Amino acid sequence: MRPEALNPLFAEVQSLEGVGPKLMKPLEKLGLTRVKDLAYHLPERFVSRRAIADLDAASEGEQVIIALTAVEHRAPRPGSRGPYRVLAQDRAGNICALSWFGKAAYSAKKLLPVGETRWIAGRLDRYGDMLQIVHPDHIEEASAAQMERQSEPVYRLSEGLTQPRVASLAAQALTRLPDLPEWIEPSQLAHSGWPTWAEALRTGHVSTDEKARDRLAYDELLANSLALLLVKAEGRRRKGAALVGDGGLRSKLHLPFALTGAQTRSIAEIEGDMAQESPMLRLLQGDVGAGKTVVALNAMLIAVEAGKQAALLAPTEILARQHFETLRKMLGPTGVEIALLTGRAKGRERESILMGLMDGSIQLLVGTHAIFQDTVNYRDLGLVVIDEQHRFGVAQRLSLAAKGRRAPHTLAMTATPIPRSLTLAQYGEMDVSRLDELPPGRQAIDTRVVAMDRVEDVVAGVERHLAGGQQAYWVCPMVREIDGAPDLADIAAAEARYAALKERFGDAVVLVHGQLRPEVKDAAMERFASGQARLLVATTVIEVGVDVPSATLMVIEQAERFGLAQLHQLRGRVGRGAEKSTCLLLRGGALSETGRARLALMRETQDGFRIAEEDLALRGGGELLGTRQSGEAAFRIADLDQVQRLLPAAHADARLLMERDGGLTSQRGEAARLLLYLFERDWGVQLLRGG
Ligand code: ADP
Ligand code: MG
Repeated sequence: MRPEALNPLFAEVQSLEGVGPKLMKPLEKLGLTRVKDLAYHLPERFVSRRAIADLDAASEGEQVIIALTAVEHRAPRPGSRGPYRVLAQDRAGNICALSWFGKAAYSAKKLLPVGETRWIAGRLDRYGDMLQIVHPDHIEEASAAQMERQSEPVYRLSEGLTQPRVASLAAQALTRLPDLPEWIEPSQLAHSGWPTWAEALRTGHVSTDEKARDRLAYDELLANSLALLLVKAEGRRRKGAALVGDGGLRSKLHLPFALTGAQTRSIAEIEGDMAQESPMLRLLQGDVGAGKTVVALNAMLIAVEAGKQAALLAPTEILARQHFETLRKMLGPTGVEIALLTGRAKGRERESILMGLMDGSIQLLVGTHAIFQDTVNYRDLGLVVIDEQHRFGVAQRLSLAAKGRRAPHTLAMTATPIPRSLTLAQYGEMDVSRLDELPPGRQAIDTRVVAMDRVEDVVAGVERHLAGGQQAYWVCPMVREIDGAPDLADIAAAEARYAALKERFGDAVVLVHGQLRPEVKDAAMERFASGQARLLVATTVIEVGVDVPSATLMVIEQAERFGLAQLHQLRGRVGRGAEKSTCLLLRGGALSETGRARLALMRETQDGFRIAEEDLALRGGGELLGTRQSGEAAFRIADLDQVQRLLPAAHADARLLMERDGGLTSQRGEAARLLLYLFERDWGVQLLRGG
């Protein structure tokens, strides 16, 4: 239960004056559903305007306030996408067009009747040979003096919201800030010269004051570090079981290769951890293709040798299935019982798996999040492996895993080459094993950037490739919109590409994207993996983990629309066998300088760490921190610069607090609990109460 003190902040936005059903959608689009979200919705920047007497006095691009009289309304032709225009003149008779696009036009009709004069605030631009202001920020009858301010906030908007509207909602939210106790260490506060929490929020809405913004970012980082430390402490507090295997099963494994040095070292580190009573909390970091699966299998077999069960959690259905098949093959002669459990298992099938887990006859389980449902009970779960859960879900998953009677050992695996500066933010103080050595015999992937207008040549190349008996991927972009809804145009793009390629290659082509029914998707994947289908057209659903060694050509359409880390993951789908592989990056149109630099980097290197570091430098790390707007964002307030500057101190502060008051019961501890709720890291607090 959330502490009462926070109720005013967690009140729904509808409780604010002026928020009716019509505003809900645009607010939700920005993630603004609670009063606190508005309080934290700080302006992106500030503009200053000056009042001018006539249009001649301003230059293009300038923010102005000017009195204009409406002369004529020009509605767009029905069906046209043009703007609604109001022609207005200043007192000297100079004409300026005020333009509204889309639904915004409705307000224009009422606000600016012909013949009336209003004060208009906005950015002066040129449209052809006419001056114009697109979507004026303010239209008021008031005098210029009242409108003129040193600086005016500019908020991030979504369609249906205006600057004044958001400003008024934010102002209302600020009047509802409760009096909260301080959670930052007093000496830290004094030393940094930071304002109090409420003061920082108020300041944040009227200026870009660095101290105020840093304090708010620090709060978020502190909450994150605390939650991660709580998970760790919980793991320590709960006794696990010391698991020692005799190696009997591992020696029977049927592996078609020798382990690399890095794999052997990682397995030894894991074995050492699992032999301890305190539960393992280890991250296995290894680039795509580094061979994490076999390391996981060894860890799982240690558990089984010690008489326990082990579970592997995959992020998608496709991956779960593939892991299941891979592990089953490698297990061959060991006689170990393995099962697959996904959300799709129903009825009898599901019942029999649940039974097998409960009576211990199933020793290894592979699946999606379904394996952690409350209805799934293990006889004795000794190890949980979490694959490719590279976003912030990790800690949350860990807290789930910690819910067992005895905490199981936990191994998280990721191919995301996270720059060191961010590992702490994402994984807290987990121990790390690195697979810094690729299996031998891997050849560099020949990567080339090709202009889209040469797509016919590319298709001809694919044809030659398939004729040579090999397989290929063709990936189309699918970008997620702000509210997480799939962009339909992009799915259409994959579908259109599929249709075109099918005309040429017939049944040799299959299509996979996230909007397909799971059975359809699996069937297509299966056809490709078994070699029946030769060409797989897909969106990024194949981004992580899929392993088809005889696929040696990867075509990525509109490559500039993908993040570098994503391109790296996609490219990692090829180059998995002994054959030489190729990756063609098709660029859509003209590229920006950054766009060119990014694709050039892909051509130049295959080193995941280098790509991540450079991506960070080029893009500011948005990709690594997740998209702010989407629910999976790492941080909503702190930006990358703040993460790098403030995280070490926030983390140290969190540790100090945990050392002194691990139960968060002191005055400051109680305040810190509020902070955890405020940043929706409730799972951290819940561990405090858990048994
Ligand atoms: P990751 O999950 O780290 O991306 P996988 O575990 O899927 O990588 O392994 C990639 C490929 O490399 C698989 O086909 C696997 O069989 C193979 N592989 C793994 N370890 C070795 C090794 N030591 N020598 C040769 N091939 C290996
Ligand atoms: Mg993998």
